[in-house]
Amino acid sequence: QRVIEARGITRIYPGGTVANDGVSLVVRPGEVHAVVGENGAGKSTLMKILFGIEKPDAGDLLIDGREARFEGPRDAIDRGVGMVFQHFSLVPSFTVYENVVLGSEPRAGARFDRAAAIERVRHLSETFRLKVDPEAQTRTLPVGQQQRVEILKALYRDAKILILDEPTAVLAPQEVDELFTAIRTLTAEGRTVIFIAHKLPEVLEISDRITVMRAGKTVGEVVAAETSEPQ
Ligand code: ADP
Ligand code: ADP
Repeated sequence: QRVIEARGITRIYPGGTVANDGVSLVVRPGEVHAVVGENGAGKSTLMKILFGIEKPDAGDLLIDGREARFEGPRDAIDRGVGMVFQHFSLVPSFTVYENVVLGSEPRAGARFDRAAAIERVRHLSETFRLKVDPEAQTRTLPVGQQQRVEILKALYRDAKILILDEPTAVLAPQEVDELFTAIRTLTAEGRTVIFIAHKLPEVLEISDRITVMRAGKTVGEVVAAETSEPQ
């Protein structure tokens, strides 16, 4: 069983940089999958392709068994993919819940129900151990909580596959622990987490499987012995 299966993904940027050169990636449901490699290895490009904001020049990508169309993030979001970038795109003057619901339209014919939205954000926050007050002012939040708002935003849109671009880079050590608790909760609840990482000790602590990239290629896959579940 696979939620993501990428084969032969190649992306050559205008100017000629071969950012992805025949990359393969297989991600199983419910796993924490780290993608590691030096700066410039092509990790971000691969994640952007999974989220539909970069189009490969060659290769195949199946998301939940269906061919990706690379028509922008809306298509990826509709297929249950959510992405949290290193640089957040929150509106500082909005409350937490306003940021979470921003861009999610109410169901056809329905009116926006403020109380229900706050309740849904509160429920997601408690379920996935992403502690943050839905009615707090976003500008007052430490970076770790801002990141939770971004994750909640993806979960509000029913993301089943969460892509986190170097999520620990901006966090204090205590916040890293809290993020890892949330990641474990997410996968225990059947979500899949793919994250880009640099620091090997962290990667080994949290990952079930690790894909190593170098110079645009996937050069290896490591399975964590103790934490991985049989698939
Ligand atoms: P990583 O995330 O592993 O650091 P990237 O996917 O960001 O790697 O980058 C891979 C290569 O592609 C690098 O050489 C980088 O400079 C180049 N690159 C990334 N984005 C662009 C872009 N938009 N245009 C041109 N080159 C890019
Ligand atoms: P574009 O203008 O690049 O084509 P779209 O208008 O198709 O993008 O965007 C579709 C939706 O994807 C928008 O509501 C946008 O807010 C949302 N979106 C962008 N980045 C993310 C993200 N990281 N997580 C969840 N939704 C996102």
